[in-house]
Amino acid sequence: MSETLYLLSYGELALKGRNRPFFVKRLIKNIIEKIKNLGHYEIHSIDGRLLLNTTAGPHEVYPVLSKIFGLAGFSLVVKCGLNYEEVREKTLQFVSSCLSQKPEISTFKIAARRSNKQFEKNSTELNSELGLEVLKAFPQLKVDVKTPHLAVHVEIRDQEAFIHSAFEKGGGGLPVGISGKGLLLLSGGIDSPVAGWMLLKRGMQVTPLHFCSPPYTSPRARQKVIDLARVLASYGGEKYLHLLQFTPVQLKIKDTRHQDLMTLLLRRAMMDAAMQLSQKLNQNTVITGENLGQVASQTIESMTATAHQYPLQVIRPLIGFDKMEIIEKAKQIQTYEISIQPYEDCCTLFLPEHPCTKPHVNDLLQEYNTLELDQLVSESVINVEVVSLL
Ligand code: ATP
Ligand code: MG
Repeated sequence: MSETLYLLSYGELALKGRNRPFFVKRLIKNIIEKIKNLGHYEIHSIDGRLLLNTTAGPHEVYPVLSKIFGLAGFSLVVKCGLNYEEVREKTLQFVSSCLSQKPEISTFKIAARRSNKQFEKNSTELNSELGLEVLKAFPQLKVDVKTPHLAVHVEIRDQEAFIHSAFEKGGGGLPVGISGKGLLLLSGGIDSPVAGWMLLKRGMQVTPLHFCSPPYTSPRARQKVIDLARVLASYGGEKYLHLLQFTPVQLKIKDTRHQDLMTLLLRRAMMDAAMQLSQKLNQNTVITGENLGQVASQTIESMTATAHQYPLQVIRPLIGFDKMEIIEKAKQIQTYEISIQPYEDCCTLFLPEHPCTKPHVNDLLQEYNTLELDQLVSESVINVEVVSLL
């Protein structure tokens, strides 16, 4: 079975000082989790980089690596011994294989770096001598040092030399799992998947939670959320979606004498449930896709009232974004096409005609108590359904 070697770099992680070994260990664990089913593999840490050897080819490995947070970049790499003749030979082989994959390549440059000063040639010599060899072997190519189609990086290190092309972009950010755990309120909309993605990228382990109200919400609306949670899982999100049935809660809220508070009462009930579930699941925070001023329930007064006095912080990564910016991000991370499927969310079932935009905390809490929502909320949490995303 033929094996392919990949060189991986971990960018921002390099800045993390004494915690670095812990972060690298987590990064390696996350990579293994995603590639273990693609074929046989081995992965090693070699000063500041990772070396991945696997039977899986680039068409399988690249899409996976590009979604791994904490990875800055990656490339196919050829390893060779520390003598010029071998470096020359393998450089030519490397260029030849790049040309057979992309025959449109017409310009190149050699970018040599020699950290091992014992090596027989310095980087300037390597650049010019290897450059001449490539020109001789592939007369159709020209040198372009500024924007070449193919940059051949030759790294002369202490133990061996590496030859690789420019790095493809990895996920960036920090490895999932090093920044605590958050429960994501995931609706079927555009915003909340993006909010979850942003915190995954900062290294938070994100567990999605969705509220549904059957039979008012349909199985297709439920499937849509499962599909969104799957996309988040492909970026390292938790492999389970938690579902809470909120029909009894919503029917009770519908009969409130304060119709203008209806949406806010529902938000408060959702937050109550999320806080209870967070405690059960040992989460550090609750995440929402809320965005300042987007709707009546997202004024600063509304958000303050619905999240008033909870033990955990509520994180709203999209608070200051414009909708167009969120949509752009949603397209980029491939949740947009799912989010715009026209299935109803429980939030839009019973809408007040004139929603309150500047609630007083005490009024909201008082009505919440009058409706005796606590018990219904707790029951929904006890009956949580856990859906596997595998
Ligand atoms: P989204 O914000 O999810 O794109 P939206 O803007 O229509 O859709 P809002 O009504 O603005 O949703 O809801 C604000 C936030 O409340 C959502 O971002 C999400 O975090 C949470 N939320 C709303 N509905 C649900 C639900 N059914 N289940 C879980 N969380 C929800
Ligand atoms: Mg929203």
